[in-house]
Amino acid sequence: MIPSLILVLALLSAVAYAQSPTAGEVDGVYRDAYGLYLDLHQNPELSAHETQTAAKLAARLRGLGYDVTEHVGGTGIVALLKNGAGPTIMLRTELDALPVEEKTGLAYASKVRAKDDAGREVPVMHACGHDLHMASLVGTAAIMAHSKQTWHGTLMLVGQPAEETISGAKTMIADGLFTRFPKPDAGVALHVSNLLPAGQVGIAPGTYNSNADSLRVTIYGKGGHGASPQTTIDPIVIAARTILALQTIASREVKPGEMAVVTVGYIHAGTKNNIIPDEAEMGLTVRSYKLDVRKQVLAAIARMVKAEAEAAGAPREPSVEHYESTDSVYNDPALAQRLRVPLEAAVGQEHVITMEPIAPSEDYAYFVEQGIPSLYFSLGGADPAKFAEARASGTALPSNHSPLFAPDVEPALRTGIAAEAAVLRNLLQGT
Ligand SMILES: [Zn+2]
Ligand SMILES: [Zn+2]
Repeated sequence: MIPSLILVLALLSAVAYAQSPTAGEVDGVYRDAYGLYLDLHQNPELSAHETQTAAKLAARLRGLGYDVTEHVGGTGIVALLKNGAGPTIMLRTELDALPVEEKTGLAYASKVRAKDDAGREVPVMHACGHDLHMASLVGTAAIMAHSKQTWHGTLMLVGQPAEETISGAKTMIADGLFTRFPKPDAGVALHVSNLLPAGQVGIAPGTYNSNADSLRVTIYGKGGHGASPQTTIDPIVIAARTILALQTIASREVKPGEMAVVTVGYIHAGTKNNIIPDEAEMGLTVRSYKLDVRKQVLAAIARMVKAEAEAAGAPREPSVEHYESTDSVYNDPALAQRLRVPLEAAVGQEHVITMEPIAPSEDYAYFVEQGIPSLYFSLGGADPAKFAEARASGTALPSNHSPLFAPDVEPALRTGIAAEAAVLRNLLQGT
């Protein structure tokens, strides 16, 4: 009786150890992970051009004993660590940065400029925190490689290119991510933001984020001399009216309380002050949580764009090109419930927050749609003192994609590593 009780207690403590990386384990990998963070932050690369970034990750993971394949779906990498029989579990990071000029004033701020796909020179910054995700993944990879006695199965690390253009997940899948490599039984990813203070993680069971649709609207008019508007049909005026009309979709057509965002992010028209151009182009991003709201909003945009052009007597119906879209990421509720336990053990019960869905989108949705139950969770990035100050004064800290986005790296990175390692060990117990 007593020996078997001791055995049970020993097993329980082994499981607890197995799931929660110790402070010593995180300390052991932190310096290297932070060094990688600084390097990646100062050398960001645009979507689908992450060659140096991918090579750095591949080299580190090979050094840890992972079997690494490069150039999957462009610059993507897949790193496998096989450790006996058991499930295959995926951990994914993005590789890409954004065309944003860093204005954080940090000593390690990016000064990189690069040519974008249109051939324009643009500043480049890891303004979405993907550098922190990569550093966290490599830290976690090291812990997992050094503690193979705590888990069994196959760990599959994925470095995905071109998340910001909602294309990298698709290109990796098309290049055999789940056919050339084992298809994961479950997947995990995280995203840092200033919505939570560093040290915390957030779980949104079910819908994690929004459906996203990118639209390019071209309004056709009739060009001419700026001094003779009566001889023209001015597409800039039509665009201006259209933009204002679009603001009534969320405020007047969608049921109050439902999530709907229509943002016109750019308008390109004209070359000179005294020329009325013959067309105007607008770029829109549309966000929603529910499928019926998504359909309603897209239909309303098409209707209003067409009607405003018609009202102005435009010579041609505007074109509405739906050029990028992604569905919302769905967090498997049973998986979210299961993984709350190791997350609480790793970062403290009071530091695991249940969150509402967030508006920014993610092409991780394509992995979920391939039949991979997943947990995509939030990682706190805000300096806790600034977070408390902002909350008290009712202001918002810089969001992802801001030139001022600057996570509190040390506590965020340590928490990311501890959380990922805990979750992977739980999933790789093979139960
Ligand atoms: Zn982003
Ligand atoms: Zn991002």
